[in-house]
Amino acid sequence: MTQRIVLASSNPGKLKEFHALLADSGFEVVAQSSLGITDAEETGASFVENALLKARHAARASGLPALADDSGLCVAHLHGAPGLHSARYAGTHGDNAANNAKLLHALDGVPDAQRNAYFICVLVLLRHAEDPAPLIAEGRWHGRVLHAPRGEGGFGYDPLFLPDDETASAAELAPGLKNRISHRGRALAELRQRLAHPHA
Ligand code: IMP
Repeated sequence: MTQRIVLASSNPGKLKEFHALLADSGFEVVAQSSLGITDAEETGASFVENALLKARHAARASGLPALADDSGLCVAHLHGAPGLHSARYAGTHGDNAANNAKLLHALDGVPDAQRNAYFICVLVLLRHAEDPAPLIAEGRWHGRVLHAPRGEGGFGYDPLFLPDDETASAAELAPGLKNRISHRGRALAELRQRLAHPHA
């Protein structure tokens, strides 16, 4: 029997990704917006706390199991910024151009050796709102921040991110390759494994 699971996100791209991820796991993914559930307040102090808040809010409001993710870019020289505020670093949620301009400005004159950064994605799956043992998966993608944007693909900070062991920016990588090696791809692979082997 298929169990419905609510996705604590209103992003259609993510819904598609998670739908594919969970295709053969016995779960059918439903967007929280289709159940009239609004976004939770992200008041946590870390990615995992925010992912938990989002998942618990969706599980509580729907009475269903819930899956949530939280992600961002952490730059060592900036003590982890933009971090939790990645989507609204420059003030307006989702203004990629302004966010990238602010990041370049913050790293103005900083040499390559001090431009290390990583993307992180944390996924949380709650079987019910009071689940005391959530499934948690994390993926990190290490690289450094470029001095100018490169490439048209991807989204967010991708044009400024040069992954370790690559010559192309994240925005220049083929989408299939990015999905396999990125923070989100790694977290999804770990979650898939945990679902397949829940007692491991
Ligand atoms: P959220 O988890 O969808 O809220 O994403 C937070 C923010 O982190 C996004 O708005 C982007 O600015 C940034 N971000 C997360 N993942 C990526 C990625 O794969 N590429 C570029 N930026 C990302």
